[in-house]
Amino acid sequence: MNQPADHAAYRIHIKGIVQGVGFRPHVYRLATELELTGWVRNSSLGVFIEVEGTFGSLEQFTHRLLNNPPPLALIRDFSVQNIPWTGYENFSIRESQLESSREVMVSPDIAICEECRQDVINQENRRYLYPFTNCTNCGPRFTIIKDVPYDRAATTMAEFPMCEQCRTEYDNPMDRRFHAQPNACPVCGPQITLVNPGGQPADTDVRELLKQGAIVAVKSLGGLHLAADARNPAAVSALRARKKRDAKPFALMVRDMDTAEKYCVINPLEKSLLCSREAPIVVVRSRKGSDLAEDLIRPGLDTLGIFLPYTPLHFLLFDESLDVLIMTSANISDEPLITDNQTALEKLKDVADYFLLHNRDIYNPCDDSVICATADQTPHFFRRARGYVPGAIELRFTSKPVLAAGSEMKNTFCITRGREAYLSQHWGDLNHYHNYQNYLQGIERFQKMLNVKPEVVAYDLHPEYQASRMAKSLQGVQQIPVQHHHAHLASVMAEHGLEGTVLGLICDGTGLGTDGAIWGCELLAGDCKDFTRQGHLQYLPLIGGDLNAQRPYRMAFLYLQALSNKSVPLAERFLPCLSPAEMEIMQKSLVSRIPYVNTSSCGRLFDAVGAITGICPVNHYDGQAAVELEARADRSERGSYPFRIQAADDLFIMDVLPLWQVLIEDLLKNIPVEIISARFHNSMIELFADLLRSARDRTGLNRVVLSGGVFHNQILSSGLRNRLLSEEFQVFLNQQVPPGDGGISLGQAIIAMERVN
Ligand code: ZN
Ligand code: ZN
Ligand code: FE
Repeated sequence: MNQPADHAAYRIHIKGIVQGVGFRPHVYRLATELELTGWVRNSSLGVFIEVEGTFGSLEQFTHRLLNNPPPLALIRDFSVQNIPWTGYENFSIRESQLESSREVMVSPDIAICEECRQDVINQENRRYLYPFTNCTNCGPRFTIIKDVPYDRAATTMAEFPMCEQCRTEYDNPMDRRFHAQPNACPVCGPQITLVNPGGQPADTDVRELLKQGAIVAVKSLGGLHLAADARNPAAVSALRARKKRDAKPFALMVRDMDTAEKYCVINPLEKSLLCSREAPIVVVRSRKGSDLAEDLIRPGLDTLGIFLPYTPLHFLLFDESLDVLIMTSANISDEPLITDNQTALEKLKDVADYFLLHNRDIYNPCDDSVICATADQTPHFFRRARGYVPGAIELRFTSKPVLAAGSEMKNTFCITRGREAYLSQHWGDLNHYHNYQNYLQGIERFQKMLNVKPEVVAYDLHPEYQASRMAKSLQGVQQIPVQHHHAHLASVMAEHGLEGTVLGLICDGTGLGTDGAIWGCELLAGDCKDFTRQGHLQYLPLIGGDLNAQRPYRMAFLYLQALSNKSVPLAERFLPCLSPAEMEIMQKSLVSRIPYVNTSSCGRLFDAVGAITGICPVNHYDGQAAVELEARADRSERGSYPFRIQAADDLFIMDVLPLWQVLIEDLLKNIPVEIISARFHNSMIELFADLLRSARDRTGLNRVVLSGGVFHNQILSSGLRNRLLSEEFQVFLNQQVPPGDGGISLGQAIIAMERVN
């Protein structure tokens, strides 16, 4: 057929998150509506379309596609080319094609959509109560994908051939389940089984077991959870004891938004985060006087981490009288998340009373994400994982592909491809053998999924980090060591696309400095390539190394020692955890200076104040003293403590001994710890504001980046941000990755990219 007048043929190529999000059916419907002919096809390079029709409808087609894509799609790149006329008779969806280069992006997992939820609760529907219901707009993605392009055969759904009815839906471009790769129903799809620890089927309703106080291991999307009735103190205590988790808060899954409001006070941003397709755990304020076993769920805190059911399976755990469950990752202490049935039955046999398992494999393990809404109504990540990974963070420039190895604790790695940075899910503490094994496997899988072979590897200066050792062992790649706090600084610059030099105030627990000291409260001036240190917290001699992170009372004692010769009676009064024997060893080490290292850690300062106030002398989880100190602060208190900033050589030295002096006087006067905590927070805000003003005067730099794990503290981050804004600084914080070590790989990556360019 010849090309009619006013007609043309276009070839369109679209890159981004365009697979597994209903893109092709969307294209099909749009083309059919506009009476265009041609085809659409997935490939590992993205989506390709050829369309023929009148100029007018072609224009409409491209306009609507670009401006009104399906809700879950993310278009990164869109190109249109005029091509010769073929004369197609209809519009069709063609088979996927494998290209040598793979540039498609894999979608993160998506919480169940409203339509699927309706299917599951409708008794007339063939998917009534079916736990694996999904459609093009929702369901598992990253956790089941083994390879790209994203087709059923490349997922852990490959072993479930579709029944006739499912196949009909899958083949019908007008159906919501058209090409929904994990499409399934009770006839053909995965099944759940409830078993006892011996693996024998339990013929009971799981909700009845939960109501009786049982602990149930539930295989979810990215791994197993341990579920227990959050209103049953005996069940919650049993879970704590069996999981060997003394104090770390448990997350709660609530039946619906109404239940969330019943137990918590929720603002609009928090609500939209809870209801988002990412469905993270959102840390919110708990409502006073509810019947939750709160002191057991989150000892010492005033917040709760809550989330909504995000798979149909989760809905089956609730009913009229069971509306809130503890849903905590199923692992023992700091080991990896458990993802398969066999390991669950072995490792959790003394933890769970029952196991709600299923036969769909989890390929990529992925923890729940944890987020909060700041007072400035921006999202703040504690952990970026399910729902967000493997979404890309867009960078301002491109380079050779980089692998950034990440940090030791709360590890994530990052791989760059072009202008995109892909952060991995959370691997935890790499000192644990199994975490490290998963991390190595994760790197392999990301490389395959993204089809990149990194030519550059970036890693932390610390020679003992597992991630750094791994990086240095890689052959044939350019190796770029990156200072820890510089990486924190660059993570914010990467997110916001900042160019040029900025001031960076980086506050965290531990990072190796260029002078061999343990840094942690650092004022840097730098860009994505280099930095100079402009100031830091006065060094404190650290004896006992990592022990101090677990025992805040030791840090308090070190501050007392630095402060006065009355340290012993003060320690005896305010640090009952410090035994005479331990005190003696510490004093001897301080004299002999073995083992000894200087530290400017900000995290340890918060710990020390947490300990001296008696709020939290011992950390049962990372940062406990600091978060409990924050939770106790009286937000109406305006007082603060004195401090000194000395300009020595080219460095500003922040001296907090005057602060300690008055803080101890407050303690001796029996001032409530809520007031003391507030005064301490206020002082840190003033100290940092003063410091940044002096640095601005000295350097002429007006843009400030705030990062590091201490900025998880909302009183500090939000208070300091507002203070700096009122003094006409430009202020930038992490919003897409955590300010803690979970975000550091992004900073390492962009520094390496800048250095190799
Ligand atoms: Zn759906
Ligand atoms: Zn079926
Ligand atoms: Fe850090």
